[in-house]
Amino acid sequence: MSATVHDLLVIGAGPAGYVGAIRAAQLGLSVGCVEVEAALGGTCLRVGCIPSKALLESSELYHEAQGGLAKHGIVISQAGLDLAVMMKRKDTVVSSLTGGVAGLFKKNKVARYHGHGQITGRDGDLWQVAVRAQDASVTQVLAHKLLLATGSVVSPLRGVELDGDRIGTSTEALSYPEVPQHLVVIGGGVIGLELGSVWARLGAKVTVLEYTDRILAGTDAEVAAIALKLFKKQGLEFRLGVRVTGARTQGDGCVVECEGQEPVLCDRVLLAVGRSPNTADLGLEQAGITTDKRGRIEVDGHFETGAKGIFAVGDVIAGPMLAHKAEEEAVACVEFMVTGYGHVDYAAIPSVVYTHPEVATVGASEEELREAGRTYRKGTFPFVANGRAKALGQTDGMVKILADAETDRVLGCAIIGPRAGDLIAEVAVAIAFGASSEDIARACHAHPTLAEVVKEAALAVSGRALHM
Ligand code: FAD
Ligand code: NAD
Repeated sequence: MSATVHDLLVIGAGPAGYVGAIRAAQLGLSVGCVEVEAALGGTCLRVGCIPSKALLESSELYHEAQGGLAKHGIVISQAGLDLAVMMKRKDTVVSSLTGGVAGLFKKNKVARYHGHGQITGRDGDLWQVAVRAQDASVTQVLAHKLLLATGSVVSPLRGVELDGDRIGTSTEALSYPEVPQHLVVIGGGVIGLELGSVWARLGAKVTVLEYTDRILAGTDAEVAAIALKLFKKQGLEFRLGVRVTGARTQGDGCVVECEGQEPVLCDRVLLAVGRSPNTADLGLEQAGITTDKRGRIEVDGHFETGAKGIFAVGDVIAGPMLAHKAEEEAVACVEFMVTGYGHVDYAAIPSVVYTHPEVATVGASEEELREAGRTYRKGTFPFVANGRAKALGQTDGMVKILADAETDRVLGCAIIGPRAGDLIAEVAVAIAFGASSEDIARACHAHPTLAEVVKEAALAVSGRALHM
């Protein structure tokens, strides 16, 4: 039987792959997408962004019901936890979204191939991909162009013996069958803090072991220091400057070894020391595609690899491992293929940590500007001076805006506070449009809203905040 031929074959159906496939189909290409998992949506929808946010929301509500509502005069005599129902709700949120992607594939006539995709060579002008199903049967698919969107996997840590249960990764931590008594998190990054917060709110003792002397590496240092203080107040325990050298199960519990320190005993371990590009058995060598020192596929300014007609986007290439970055790249990549235009503005990609309060950043941090020798002005404004924050009872945190000292163009923003993840969108748009802090300050912001804190921080850049 002759193999099916597509204009574009996408390998991987995460935010990079499924969005790239849909956009390419919209642009008139005949598109196929290979995904090894039964559900579409990738890490993000299945075991990342979505299930973690569902649990963050549920655990925050539980925490509020446990006493946080009393200050509003709402008395709940006994708030109980049904973890199985909480997990089921999370699973329903996930399946409704992964099912939604399957619906979008049908609507846009994207052909689905269920199995592991591997580039096997050329057939004239076409690239050849073997799709190996779970029952070991192989389907050959041909395409004029390939888009590699195979994402990332958890980075291992030497000495940490993952057993898929007590010593696990974020995937296991999204589905613990009971609240751990003592959860040790290795790594004080985004995953450690988000999932550490979930289990601390549900009643676990949580200890975060972090190698460096701070949390949230790469995030504005002043904001990360405020976050550390607030998370400690919430009961999370932090040990900074600790290098974990191993972890193993012992009886019913676990032992975590740390360099030069007493081992830590606990009943569960979450390894969260980063993620690595996923290129296993993809056939890169076969196609002559190179990777960098960190195993990321090397691409040019239009996401094309060293092999003509093969492109790569998302977590599998360099840059922040974020779902929206992956989506932007996928759209720019396929638009370039079809129209000759396509661009990602990397200076305007926001990043959000969905803790309570949230931490959100976009553009450059103060440290990055200092390192680059840029002169800048800074405006900050605290949520405690904002009417809406007071009404919400969520006054911790601040907005910081950084603008070029000469041109006033907005260069960066860091927010810690309520709904920071939503508030950062305004500044991301400002950066994308090349706006000045004066532009934000002069724009009318509704009252009473949290967005007024962004306006006040912009006013503060030129020393004219009104409510401080
Ligand atoms: P992926 O989503 O990893 O998708 C790759 C897909 O390719 C997978 O479905 C995989 O099965 C498939 N695949 C791989 N190899 C093959 C092959 N050879 N053949 C066929 N299929 C293959 N980012 C955010 O922006 N916001 C968040 O709130 C957020 N929360 C997160 C929480 C957690 C716990 C984790 C782990 C990650 C989180 N991320 C978040 C990061 C986000 O999930 C990733 O940046 C995003 O999923 C990357 O998209 P991608 O399409 O490049 O890769
Ligand atoms: P991370 O890079 O955010 O943090 C890893 C931390 O582990 C670092 O602080 C590092 O210093 C520490 N570490 C490394 N080795 C150590 C050791 N031996 N002992 C102790 N600490 C050690 O990685 P992550 O939290 O695993 O997240 C992975 C990726 O997933 C991130 O790049 C992030 O972009 C993405 N993600 C994003 C979101 C979001 O956008 N809200 C949420 C979750 C994950």
